[in-house]
Amino acid sequence: MKIDINIPPDAEFIIETLKASNHKAYIVGGCVRDSIMGRVPADWDITTSATPCEIKELFTKTIDTGIKHGTITVVINGSCFEVTTFRQDGEYADNRHPSAVNYTKSIVEDLSRRDFTINAIAYNKEEGLLDPFSGAVDIQSKTIRTVGQPDKRFNEDALRMLRAVRFSAQLCFEAERSTLESILSNAALIKNISAERIRDELTKILLSDNPDRLWLIKKTNLMGYIMPEFLPCFDTPQNNPYHVYNVAEHIIKSIQYAEKDKIIRWTMLLHDIGKPYVKTTDKKGIDHFYGHPFKSVALAGSILRRLRFDTKSIHKILKLVELHDIDIKPDPTSVRKAVNRAGSDLFEILLKVYEADKRAQTPDFLEERLKSLKEIRDIYLEIMEKGQCVDLKGLAVTGDDLVREGFEEGIKIKNALDKLLADVLNNPELNRKDILLNIAKKYTRR
Ligand code: ATP
Ligand code: MG
Repeated sequence: MKIDINIPPDAEFIIETLKASNHKAYIVGGCVRDSIMGRVPADWDITTSATPCEIKELFTKTIDTGIKHGTITVVINGSCFEVTTFRQDGEYADNRHPSAVNYTKSIVEDLSRRDFTINAIAYNKEEGLLDPFSGAVDIQSKTIRTVGQPDKRFNEDALRMLRAVRFSAQLCFEAERSTLESILSNAALIKNISAERIRDELTKILLSDNPDRLWLIKKTNLMGYIMPEFLPCFDTPQNNPYHVYNVAEHIIKSIQYAEKDKIIRWTMLLHDIGKPYVKTTDKKGIDHFYGHPFKSVALAGSILRRLRFDTKSIHKILKLVELHDIDIKPDPTSVRKAVNRAGSDLFEILLKVYEADKRAQTPDFLEERLKSLKEIRDIYLEIMEKGQCVDLKGLAVTGDDLVREGFEEGIKIKNALDKLLADVLNNPELNRKDILLNIAKKYTRR
């Protein structure tokens, strides 16, 4: 296949510099694949016959990012490029790490250690595409195929199974039959992969154009090892006037409707995960899921901690899961109370979660709900514009003011402030120091 790839000048400079010193150098991997597909590559990786020491000698600014694996980051005009020495991986001892990394002078050997044919293509201006495993043909037919025997490749590094799903979600490709069958029979190996690597692949799937490829994680049996809590969702119908899908279908639809944001899409994945565990069916045969947000919070908390999410993200996601179903009416008091519960930093995100959730329910009520949501948004903007009080920080009196009024420090003050805040959420005009102190006078002080 003849193709001209527009390599950015800084990457081209690195390749030319290496070649001028008699080394071989190519762009490789995702950037070649994306260029062939007409997509904009996220980054430009370079592979070379030069050793890390030789790379470092040729460029003024370098960082030893992955020197153990032969990777040096070269910085040109402030942009970073990963430059990796042609490599051949030794034996894989534990389904994840090669026991040794050997450098090689052969680009074909380097390409043969890469995961999929679509990722095993190199290119430079002079030589064009180097494509010993016919990756370009697989790109054309939208096929994910391992380089070499799938069983062997998935045994070497079990993360590749999840990467196959990830590329299928990002590129809208299909795994070729033997690759898919091999994932099915090797799914259990994913247990040997670190939680962080699994989390990052799941996040990429969630943020892709086709997050519905989560089905593939179920279909390939990977789900049972990655997130067993999610499995019952696939077998839980929702016979309820608000729903037309079973729980898993609803969750996946809600992800598709949600903004491509890590916190929002993880929230959608987890918001109803508790439903199968609290389902009841009434005499009329209608299903109910009372208290499901709390069960979802409990399950989501253990999943997110197991996947080693940072505490800030966990806190945000759990709060959104907890509040995803609260009743917000398009009236200012109801909106102020909801902003108070979510916090003003999360409220707008909560509305996005709300919208994605509603869009994935029955279309019968959608128009009405979107109208109400728009009103809620407008009311929220007005509350913010007017600077109305929505939390203790915005209250016109402080704990110290109440101490001066003779309130006993501690729980009494906390209760008094909470009551005053409740009054102000109902009626913002009360948020004046004189008025609030007057109201407080009616409360017992000791
Ligand atoms: P992205 O667009 O997400 O960066 P990518 O294809 O560049 O996609 P990376 O994870 O950045 O994927 O990896 C860069 C290249 O390194 C891949 O294209 C592939 O050739 C190789 N590679 C990465 N991870 C593995 C792996 N686990 N096993 C084999 N080869 C891998
Ligand atoms: Mg990449």
